[in-house]
Amino acid sequence: MLVFLRPDADAADRERVLALFRAEGIRADLRVLGAVAVVETPPSGNRLRDRVAALPGVERLESSESAAYRLAAGHGRTTRVPVGGTAFGDGSFAVVAGPCAVEGREVLLEIAEAVRAAGAHALRGGAFKPRTSPYTFQGLGEEGLRALREASDRTGLPVVTEVMDPREIPLVSRYADLLQVGSRNMQNFPLLQELGRQARPVLLKRGMSATLGEFLAAAEYVLSGGNGKVILCERGVRTFGDDTRNTLDLAAVPALRSRTHLPVIVDPSHATGRADLVRPMARAAAAAGADGVMVEVHVRPDEALCDARQALLPAELEAMIAECHAIRSVLANGAGLMTGAR
Ligand code: PEP
Ligand code: MN
Repeated sequence: MLVFLRPDADAADRERVLALFRAEGIRADLRVLGAVAVVETPPSGNRLRDRVAALPGVERLESSESAAYRLAAGHGRTTRVPVGGTAFGDGSFAVVAGPCAVEGREVLLEIAEAVRAAGAHALRGGAFKPRTSPYTFQGLGEEGLRALREASDRTGLPVVTEVMDPREIPLVSRYADLLQVGSRNMQNFPLLQELGRQARPVLLKRGMSATLGEFLAAAEYVLSGGNGKVILCERGVRTFGDDTRNTLDLAAVPALRSRTHLPVIVDPSHATGRADLVRPMARAAAAAGADGVMVEVHVRPDEALCDARQALLPAELEAMIAECHAIRSVLANGAGLMTGAR
């Protein structure tokens, strides 16, 4: 059983809860996670439920299963997450665009100008890359971060970039507006816990084999540390299909909508791995009610050092954005999706 204490519970309130279990010979552990203080007891603690619930400072009692994403849970409203001068989850359709990796200063500046002109709201680009093979391009590190900052300053677009290691958080935070946790790190708990202590918002990508419950529990690691600014990103899951790089789980968008108040965006680039499928799947994401998309764009895809086959051209990005807006306005004016109807 988990006993959640009220935010204003003081040391005496905590001690009273612990003492009640102690007096009954039941183990009770106090855990303070930034925003949340909780007392955990083994199931035997259940028989004291009513007495514990009546203590001052006790907010509520829950099972570990129902509590796994208590801060992430909610429906019928979306939390607005500001990122630089833009926002996710405010009812608009946010578009994050840019290369898979920062390959060099000049090419990044070129891409940044192009995606801004095409209508993107934020610039993406990896400086630390989680590559499957250790022999392939691993990213430019701090040099890449500096290029991202310069591109951001020139275009006014906030920067989204991946952080893979808790030790790199201070460095990446100096340059980035939104810290990305990649699919491979969705359950890197030390990383999530450290991000929970940060002021910067977090873009959490779904693990390629994660259930939605696991995805939300991963978000809870960040939220429970005191960082309430989390954006979720569906990026495709592993299935038997091999026509696309992953299988885009679009049902995750409305399914998450009914379980969480966090904004949900879709990455059709990594979900499909094919440039020809990115635009149709971005349109589908808009139709499913996503708060935005993140797509890979390159001015010369043939020269891209990673994920070349899924990169859109800037002109394709511009067309994609127009199509997504058109779909949203049809739904808002006609079918009523944006007002919560099924
Ligand atoms: C990325 O967006 O740069 C990336 C590596 O994607 P994912 O973690 O979803 O594979
Ligand atoms: Mn990529």
